[in-house]
Amino acid sequence: RTVYVNGEYVPEAEAKVSVFDRAFLMADGVYEVTSVLGGRLIDFDGHAARLERSLGELGMGMPMSRDELLTIHRELVVRNDLTDGMIYLQVTRGAPGDRDFAFPPEGTPQTVVLFTQSKPGLADSPLAKQGIRVISIPDVRWGRRDIKTVQLLYPSMGKMMAKKAGADDAWMVEDGAVTEGTSNNAYIVKDGTIVTRNLGTEILHGITRAAVLRFAREAQMKVEERAFTIDEAKAADEAFITSASMFVMPVVEIDGDAVGSGAPGPVATRLREIYLEESRKVAV
Ligand code: PLP
Repeated sequence: RTVYVNGEYVPEAEAKVSVFDRAFLMADGVYEVTSVLGGRLIDFDGHAARLERSLGELGMGMPMSRDELLTIHRELVVRNDLTDGMIYLQVTRGAPGDRDFAFPPEGTPQTVVLFTQSKPGLADSPLAKQGIRVISIPDVRWGRRDIKTVQLLYPSMGKMMAKKAGADDAWMVEDGAVTEGTSNNAYIVKDGTIVTRNLGTEILHGITRAAVLRFAREAQMKVEERAFTIDEAKAADEAFITSASMFVMPVVEIDGDAVGSGAPGPVATRLREIYLEESRKVAV
């Protein structure tokens, strides 16, 4: 695989980042994951805009223009002959010559890394016909989940708790309400209304979430952006998640209890179709 590191395209085995990198020592970095379908990028503009926002919230600027970022994304697709998969992008506060809690001096170059992950048939995952199972776990992450930092230890532990319980993922709960999944936004459907957590610092502002809610409203579906509980989710007609790599994925079981019929529901199934169709149309 050819990866991108600080201005250069290199074979992955030759890619190097400093041991003093702020992301390595302090999780002082942000990332984006953009899906590639048929060799084209899904919602690149949304991911670039959120990257700029995440960096801004941490007092950093963009390492280069959005156009230059797009060029690197495309170049990696070509060089790696990528048809379906993802492009991972990480920008860190760079690598000063030492470990220090204080930010490095102004002008310290940021670290920029991009690599591809091939997932043939990503959009035709059999899981979408089956649905996934989730467990609920307490949300003990920090309070700025709207910033897409590389601080992923707890979500990673949550994923392992789910696996250990024989489930696929975990929904995190804070003050009695669901925030989001380990790496996705969470939704329920009750009496035809789609309910998902309102935006704030408590959740990541999903790029897929924004697109799916727009398509749902355009299709005259009712949408409520508000907090909901696990009990409400268990009593819902349907549940699902969204993310750049899972698109829209039905959730059929929560903490061992079937949601609705226990099979993927019509709303999640339709939203998945609409999302894939519409976002492919405008892919770059
Ligand atoms: N919430 C969290 C915590 C995430 O990590 C992610 C994606 O990685 C999402 C939600 C979904 O965001 P997006 O649709 O932009 O992939």
